[in-house]
This record gives sequence, structure tokens and C-alpha cells, in this order.
Amino acid sequence: MFEAQGLMVFYENMLALNNVGLSCGDRQIVGVFGANSAGKSTLMYTLSGIMDDIAKKERMAGGERITIRGGISFQGKDMFGVKPAARARAGIILCPERRRIFPESTVLENLHIAGYLASRQQTEETLDYVFTIFPPLTKITRRLGGFLSGGEQQMLAIGRALMAQPKLLLLDEPLLGLSPAIQYWLAKSIKEIAAERQVAIIVAEQYARPIMPIIDYGYILENGSAVIEGDRDKLMNNPDVKSAYFGS
Ligand code: ATP
Repeated sequence: MFEAQGLMVFYENMLALNNVGLSCGDRQIVGVFGANSAGKSTLMYTLSGIMDDIAKKERMAGGERITIRGGISFQGKDMFGVKPAARARAGIILCPERRRIFPESTVLENLHIAGYLASRQQTEETLDYVFTIFPPLTKITRRLGGFLSGGEQQMLAIGRALMAQPKLLLLDEPLLGLSPAIQYWLAKSIKEIAAERQVAIIVAEQYARPIMPIIDYGYILENGSAVIEGDRDKLMNNPDVKSAYFGS
């Protein structure tokens, strides 16, 4: 239901995405794995439309020339070039790298702010769900975002994305900076969210170990190109993937 073809992104003359195609079916979890600078955030920004905004701002400020090419469709509709806010209304919600929660707002306020796309009933129901899937948040509803641990911040960031009623959730490096125990716990939660909220998830991550076991299909990104793709078992049994991500 979500499809991207031939995505190319240039920062000036530097090719950051090279002919990347990707698809994600209903309720599927798709992984995009790559090292630092592989192009994961560029891809997530391009899928969510934020790349178009960044390109426009640069153009208006006389900054670097960013060129975006390719095709994106969601539920049969052409989404390429569509504004990020309109993509969000269509259900494409990005949970950005490094969480980006509001540090001076409380946990509850952070969640409510994101509910602007939801009806009152959806807001109440989704709040209940967020506190069910992330129980540690129930004890800190009045704490300021800036005073949360990394794990709590990530729970809040995903919770906030859920409040926006996603049909396709884009998670950019959700495990960054978290302890291995929390990484595995979050990966399990991400799998539960896909099943329980009937949401499709594309997750970009350099820590493949906890994420690869929960995906349906995945891509390995290297220097802006998708060099290997396949279902979970194919990827996990690929010798190059094993040596790069599983140390064997
Ligand atoms: P990380 O894990 O470090 O976030 P990433 O896989 O998300 O890495 P990107 O942030 O997408 O990678 O970066 C891909 C490449 O594009 C890198 O070489 C990066 O330096 C370059 N890049 C990213 N943003 C810009 C920009 N605004 N101008 C120029 N080059 C950029």
C-alpha cells in the first residue's frame, strides 16, 4: 500500500539516495538498515515529505541546492511532492531521529499536542493505548520532556506519533542511545504496535540485532543505495548481513 520508486536525493552534487525503491504492505514491518551516513534519515525525510520542506527552505535562504526525484504512492494516491502536513493527514507519520519531543512541555502535554489530527474520542482511546503499551509513562505524566531518560523519551516520541493516528509510521533510529535491554523491549513493543494498531511501520535503524527479528521485509542501505533486500529469513541468513550486523 506504500510504495517508493527510484528515489534520488542530491545535496548539491553529493548523491545521498541513489535510485532507492521500497514497498510496505498493510500492517507490515519493513526495516531499513545501514551504518552512519548510509542515508537512512534522508530516506525517512523524503518519505514523510520533510525533505521537500528542507529543500524549499534552503532555496529561499540561497543555501545548498537539494534535488529530489522519484515516485511515492500511498493507498493508490500519488504522494510525491505532497506537503508533509497533507501526508500526515493521509496517515504517514514520522517519528524523527533523536526524538524531538518538547522539553518544556510535560509528558501529557507532549501527547496532547500530537492529537490535533484526532477526534476527542480517538484521543482518549489512543492515550489509554499509549499508557498500556508504555506503562512507565503512566508514572511521569506531569514530568517535563527535558527531564526524561532516553528510554522514556523514545516511548514518548512513539506515543506522540501514535496520537497522530498513523496508518504508516516512520521510525527513524528509535534505538539510538538506548541500553541493549531497552532496545529489545522497545523492538517487542514496536511489533505489538503494528499488530494491535493495524499500522504499517518502516523502521530505519543501525542496530539491526533487536529489529531484524521483528521485520517482515528489509533493505540494507549502503552509501545511499539499497544493496540487499529480502524477507526476514533471507536477510538474517545472508552472510554479508551476518558479518556486518551480527558479528558472525
Ligand atoms: P546517521 O545514522 O548518522 O543519522 P543516516 O544513515 O541517517 O546517518 P543521512 O543523515 O541520511 O544518513 O546522511 C546521508 C549522507 O548525506 C551523509 O553523507 C550526510 O553527511 C549527507 N547529508 C545529510 N544531510 C545533508 C545536508 N543537508 N547537506 C549535505 N549533506 C548532507
